Amino acid sequence: MIPLASDTETKPTEAMRRAMATAPVGDEQKGEDPTVNRLLERVCDLLGKEAALFLPGGTMCNLVALKTHTQPGDAVLADHMAHIIRAESGGSPFASGVLIEPIGSERGIFSPRALEEAYGKVRTAPWPYAPTPRLVCVEQTHNFGGGTVWTLEELRSVHDKSRELGLALHMDGARLLNAVVATGTAARQFAACVDSVWIDFTKGLGAPVGAVLAGSKDFIARARLYKHMFGGAMRQAGIVAAGCLHALDHHVERLAEDHENARRLARGLSRISGIRVLTPEPETNMVFFEIPGLPMDVPTFTAEARRRGVSLVGIGSGIRAVTHLDVSREDIDRAVAIMEEMASGK
Ligand SMILES: *Cc1c(COP(=O)(O)O)cnc(C)c1O
Repeated sequence: MIPLASDTETKPTEAMRRAMATAPVGDEQKGEDPTVNRLLERVCDLLGKEAALFLPGGTMCNLVALKTHTQPGDAVLADHMAHIIRAESGGSPFASGVLIEPIGSERGIFSPRALEEAYGKVRTAPWPYAPTPRLVCVEQTHNFGGGTVWTLEELRSVHDKSRELGLALHMDGARLLNAVVATGTAARQFAACVDSVWIDFTKGLGAPVGAVLAGSKDFIARARLYKHMFGGAMRQAGIVAAGCLHALDHHVERLAEDHENARRLARGLSRISGIRVLTPEPETNMVFFEIPGLPMDVPTFTAEARRRGVSLVGIGSGIRAVTHLDVSREDIDRAVAIMEEMASGK
């Protein structure tokens, strides 16, 4: 199977498994796991933040961060296709009692003006009954936008507008390091624009478990309470943190190969008649396409592709393919050939 449905499909490499098997461990819940502590220092340094927290995954990072930033009844502003809105089972509205106001965007990247418009819809002064806008969320890279990158300039302008409106800014940085590799902008420069930020180790970085949320000392001290409340405290978590450290050492620069493979896939697909590529120039590791000219619907297409050895995922009216360290250049060529055969009715 060529695993293109998601970059979460990566399996830990032999070298990563060895690093995990031999990691020194302690009680993470008490702050005594040396490997977790090493990972947290490493991420603080990478992101230029004072403190950090190890969590089982990215969804819990968003959950804990939104809980820490808000009070029940507050409004959070996020792009209308944000993972927080579309793919976290309503966790933050449930756990934090917040409402999430969608911001209009172009492929997940919104302007200061669009932010101000969404803010204005929540805060219709002198209306005394409105919820209090508290937090803005950005996603780097933007998943359902097609792996789109916030440039430093775009992020700074949204940071300035957030400050002007008195709002905190949170970054869902599930694929921040893809953005770093794609742009050459340092992670800490992106992170300097936001109050809280997390990175995921289980996407293109290829680790089996773990994400790290970072921010100020005070923010992380409060976040630690919610981590515990939500059941995110662990014991000998150094076993999995070692996989994350290994990923930082060995799997970051190579993300450039994934981006090259995504471009190759987009070029290949755009030559197939009946397929329309929505991301003809992928910015990172995602390709979105539609099949308007084929005599089948999306579920039939993805099921048939799977039967022929390519896993894809249908998202709305489109199909997503994601490249990662378990997909080679040869796999891309084979996947294109398979979809070409399907399109020609063979
Ligand atoms: C995957 C993802 C998450 C959730 O991360 P998990 O580690 O799967 O819980 C959140 N936001 C974005 C943009 C993602 O792609």
